[in-house]
Amino acid sequence: MSKKIKLAKTAGFCYGVKRAVETTKKLKTDNESQNVYVLGELIHNSHVIRELDRLGIKTVDEIPSNSQGVCVVRSHGASPATFKEIADSDLQIMDLTCPDVKKVQKKAIELAQDGYLTIIVGKADHPEVKAIKDNALEFSKSVYVISGAKEIEKIENEIHEQKKVGVVVQTTQMINTLNEIVEKLVPISKELKVFNTICASTSKRQREAKELAHQSDLMIVVGSKKSANTTHLAQIVSDITKTIHIEDVKDIPAYINEIKKSENIGVTAGASTPDNIINEVINAIKNI
Ligand code: SF4
Repeated sequence: MSKKIKLAKTAGFCYGVKRAVETTKKLKTDNESQNVYVLGELIHNSHVIRELDRLGIKTVDEIPSNSQGVCVVRSHGASPATFKEIADSDLQIMDLTCPDVKKVQKKAIELAQDGYLTIIVGKADHPEVKAIKDNALEFSKSVYVISGAKEIEKIENEIHEQKKVGVVVQTTQMINTLNEIVEKLVPISKELKVFNTICASTSKRQREAKELAHQSDLMIVVGSKKSANTTHLAQIVSDITKTIHIEDVKDIPAYINEIKKSENIGVTAGASTPDNIINEVINAIKNI
């Protein structure tokens, strides 16, 4: 059986991730003797983290004390307290928060300042969401994270009390999740302001992945299971066609039968998946 393998047009690094990875590497290659620390994993991809480590760029969970050099704030952003802590240390800040994430933080702050009960649609334990919340909490206590429409019930009393409700969304969320939440909020809010802050790169990637899924009898989604946008991609295409989500080429042997049986295979990848990982997967499928 001859196979057709098609890669989605938007697959792999988005501009925010590309900027974060390239700038961080350059900090070290331009000045090898300087310490470069990244607070939390720069992106959710173990291959990239290992590569940074080989270059001497250290991923840290806490801001190192008594050390000089640069501390990188990743594309997910950070809380005002973290920025202050870096400013108070001997390290210089390299803020690589994605401009699209900054926009969400700004909208959440505006809502909090204007007295809206602020809802962030997203995963509460995701670093981007935590940073958006911490920024908004500087201006109001009424800031909540909701991952699905069902969770609205938990804050219904607060919504009735506060009346004005504002919504922002984690940049990598699915539009359906936002729609379901808004639908539940409309009847119980007197005033509702919604900012669709899903970033353009995510919207385009999800749209193209859907189109490709409709033409494919198997979709392969490449990227870390820790990556929010990759898991959402897998969820979206799995509603349309048979889907496998793999981290890299090492996972292929477990799916040889599905791949052999499929004629039209679509491949897409999350915003934190490097091109070489995608290419290795495509070559491996071609060889089956
Ligand atoms: Fe920026 Fe969107 Fe990429 Fe996140 S997914 S880093 S918001 S471009």
